[in-house]
Amino acid sequence: MPMLRELTEYHTPATLDEALKLLRRRKIRTVPIGGGGSLVPDAPRDVQAVVDLSKLGLSFIEADEDGLSLGATTTLQTLLDDQRVKAYAGGVLLKALRDTAGRNVRESATLAGSIVAARGNSPLVTALLALNAQITTHAQREQTAPLAEWIPSNGALITRLSLPALPAEARAAYEKVARTPADLPIVCVAAVQIGAVVRLALGGVAERPIVMRLMDITPDQAAQHVQQAIYPATDYFASAAYRREMAGVLVKRALS
Ligand SMILES: Cc1cc2nc3c(=O)[nH]c(=O)nc-3n(C[C@H](O)[C@H](O)[C@H](O)COP(=O)(O)OP(=O)(O)OC[C@H]3O[C@@H](n4cnc5c(N)ncnc54)[C@H](O)[C@@H]3O)c2cc1C
Repeated sequence: MPMLRELTEYHTPATLDEALKLLRRRKIRTVPIGGGGSLVPDAPRDVQAVVDLSKLGLSFIEADEDGLSLGATTTLQTLLDDQRVKAYAGGVLLKALRDTAGRNVRESATLAGSIVAARGNSPLVTALLALNAQITTHAQREQTAPLAEWIPSNGALITRLSLPALPAEARAAYEKVARTPADLPIVCVAAVQIGAVVRLALGGVAERPIVMRLMDITPDQAAQHVQQAIYPATDYFASAAYRREMAGVLVKRALS
């Protein structure tokens, strides 16, 4: 199948304003491109122009007392190689990045592109949801919202992801079940527990990873709650019943 067959323009703007102006055009269907790993094979047929984000200065990793701030065009491999990312949340983000794709893909895949293109079993988005990531976008104005509430919209450009600093007592975990250790998960679970409050995210049980907030709950109770709350689909990787069963097993592992 021809890819980006209607493409007639490739822009590499040097400023955010310029990029937004291009993306706002009504008469020519224009979309942002990060690494292109998903856009190039899967772009809607009518895309006529792409805006390459690589010159916007959005590849960065910043850390301060509020937590981590990750630029939208930072590649997954750059994140994985960073000591602050490695240390964050006991290595949960690191594990999820490793599980998301092999090194070749990670070298080109950007953080924002990977979030937009994420499937329901995305380890990265599952971990980011448990970590209560905030997403900053620019359309008419800059907006920051929890990733859990974010809905992709045409013309809005993701510029950064922020991860809150975690208190010393925070416990975080990431667990998955897959056909082989190198495969994408069939089901994955990420959990962050701070005192009695647990943020539990699950991948592989819905069209997009989901997150829930539970309080004063034992691992067994959390597993039971999750199994009752989800309605996974059956596909060629696993039945709905298997996914539900594994979700419970992984929740118990993550919280024990
Ligand atoms: C051979 C091959 C193997 C692959 N293997 C894997 C794999 O193992 N795991 C996996 O998860 N994926 C895989 N992919 C798919 C793809 O590479 C990944 O999904 C990648 O993480 C997407 O990131 P990207 O930067 O390349 O996004 P792009 O393809 O550039 O963009 C993806 C989408 O995000 C939008 N977008 C990009 N940046 C922004 C932004 N800043 N703001 C708003 N929207 C934006 C684009 O318009 C597009 O709709 C594979 C692809 C190929 C070709």
